Amino acid sequence: MKPVVALIGRPNVGKSTLFNQLTRSRQALVADLAGLTRDRQYGDATFEEKSFIVIDTGGIGEVDEGDGTIDDYMSHQSHTAIHEADIIVFVVDSRAGITGADEVIAKQLHTLGKPVFLAANKMDGVHEAAIHEFYALGFGEPFSMAASHGRGVGNLLEAVTANMPTDDQEEQAPDGLRIAIIGRPNVGKSTLVNRLLGEERVVVFDMPGTTRDSIYIPYERDNRHYVLIDTAGVRRRGRIDEKVEKFSVVKTLQAIKDAHVVIVVIDAQEGITDQDLNLLGYALEAGRAMVLAINKWDGLDQDQKNFVKIEMDRRFNFIPYVKTHLISALHGTGVGNLYPSIHKAYDAAMFDISTSRLTQILQDAVTAHQPPMVGGRRIKLRFAHLGGHNPPIIVIHGNQTSQVPNSYRRYLENEFRKVFKLEGTPIRVEFKQNA
Ligand code: GDP
Ligand code: GDP
Repeated sequence: MKPVVALIGRPNVGKSTLFNQLTRSRQALVADLAGLTRDRQYGDATFEEKSFIVIDTGGIGEVDEGDGTIDDYMSHQSHTAIHEADIIVFVVDSRAGITGADEVIAKQLHTLGKPVFLAANKMDGVHEAAIHEFYALGFGEPFSMAASHGRGVGNLLEAVTANMPTDDQEEQAPDGLRIAIIGRPNVGKSTLVNRLLGEERVVVFDMPGTTRDSIYIPYERDNRHYVLIDTAGVRRRGRIDEKVEKFSVVKTLQAIKDAHVVIVVIDAQEGITDQDLNLLGYALEAGRAMVLAINKWDGLDQDQKNFVKIEMDRRFNFIPYVKTHLISALHGTGVGNLYPSIHKAYDAAMFDISTSRLTQILQDAVTAHQPPMVGGRRIKLRFAHLGGHNPPIIVIHGNQTSQVPNSYRRYLENEFRKVFKLEGTPIRVEFKQNA
C-alpha cells in the first residue's frame, strides 16, 4: 500500500501549485475524478524511489473567516483527505503570516495524531526571518518553500518520505491473478464480489489496516489461484458503517496499481457517465489490463438496452481491444463469462516474447509502412525488445527516435497488438535513441 500524503491549508496558500510540483515528476498520474471527489485531486508522486499518493484539497471555495465556515470546511476535510492520509503537509502563506484560519486548522491537525509537516510557502521575495513566526503553530521547524519556483520542495520531500519504504521494499500481495473490482458508488461492486465468490471457498484476509485499504481475498476456481481486490469492502468483518464511506478514491487507486486485471463496473441503468470514463482512463494510464462489466442489465427494457449499446460504441471506441460484458451481478447472469476475458487480458498483460521475434515483427511493420522522413533523413527503427510486463512495454531502438510521430507509434502499437493478439491490455511503445 502506498503511503498517502494530504496537502492541507486554507485557500490560495499554494497547495495546488505544490501538488503540481509533486506530481509533475516523471509520468505523473492525476486522477481526474471530478464529481466523485468534489473538491479533491489525487496524484502519484515519486521521490528517490519512494512512491506515494498525494491528495490536494485545493479548489475549495472562499472561506469566510468571520463565521463558522472554517469549521465546516475542516470537518468536511477531516472526513475526506485527512482521514485517508498517513501524513499531512500543512501549507501556510509566509507573506500573509499566521491567520485565524491557519490557527483553526492547526488546532484540528494537532488532534489527529498524524505526522504534520509545516510548509511555509511563498518565501520568494520574503525575508528568511519571516519563517520564525510559524513556529507558533506548534509543528516544529517550518520548511521554507516557494512552490511556484520549485524551491525548497526537495527538502520538504526528503522529510516527508524519510520513513516511507522504497518501492522494492513494498509488501507483496498474495500469489495469484489479482483482480480489482472498481467503479463508482452503487454500480454493484459489492454484489459482484459476492457473486464471484459465491460458490468458492473463501478465507478472508482481514489484514490490519484502515478503512481506506482494500480487502485482498485469495480464492481458487478450476485449479487457478486468484486474489480479488475488493474496494467495496463487503467482506470486511464487523464494520456496519462501511456503507457510508465505503467508496474511497485512494482505495480505488491502490487497487488499480496492485491488480493484474481491473474489472470496471458500470451501472447500465445510469448509463455511461464521465466519472466512469475518468476511472477507466486512470486505470488505462496506470497500464492496467481491463474488462468492462456493464451491470444491472436485467433492469433495462429493449429501448434502454439499445440506447446503452449505442452509447457503448460511441464512448468506448478508443479502447476497441477491451472486452465488454453485459451482466447482472444481482442474478448472476453473464458473471461466469467474465473469466475467459480476465484470463485473456492477464495473458496479454504478462505476455513474453523474444527480442528476435519482436524485432522481426517490427521490421515487417516498417517494411509495410515506412516511418516518415525528418529533415531529409528517414527515421530508422532497428530492433525491439520487451521492456516489462503489466502493461507490456515494447522498447524500440533506432535513430531520430524522438521524432517518431504519435500516429506512427499508434500504427506500431496496433501491429504488435494484432500479431500477438494482445486483447484487454494497454501497451506502451517506447523509443530509445541509439548511441
Ligand atoms: P491553493 O488554493 O492553496 O491551491 O493555492 P494555489 O496553488 O492555487 O496558489 C494560489 C496563488 O499563489 C496562485 O496565484 C499561485 O501562482 C501563487 N503561488 C503559489 N505558490 C507560490 C510561491 O511559492 N510564490 C509566489 N510568489 N506565489 C505562489
Ligand atoms: P457498490 O456500491 O458498487 O458496491 O454497489 P452495491 O453492490 O452495493 O449495489 C448497489 C445497489 O444496486 C444495490 O441495491 C444492489 O442490489 C443493486 N444491484 C447490484 N447489482 C445489480 C444488478 O445486476 N441488477 C439490479 N437490478 N440491481 C443491482
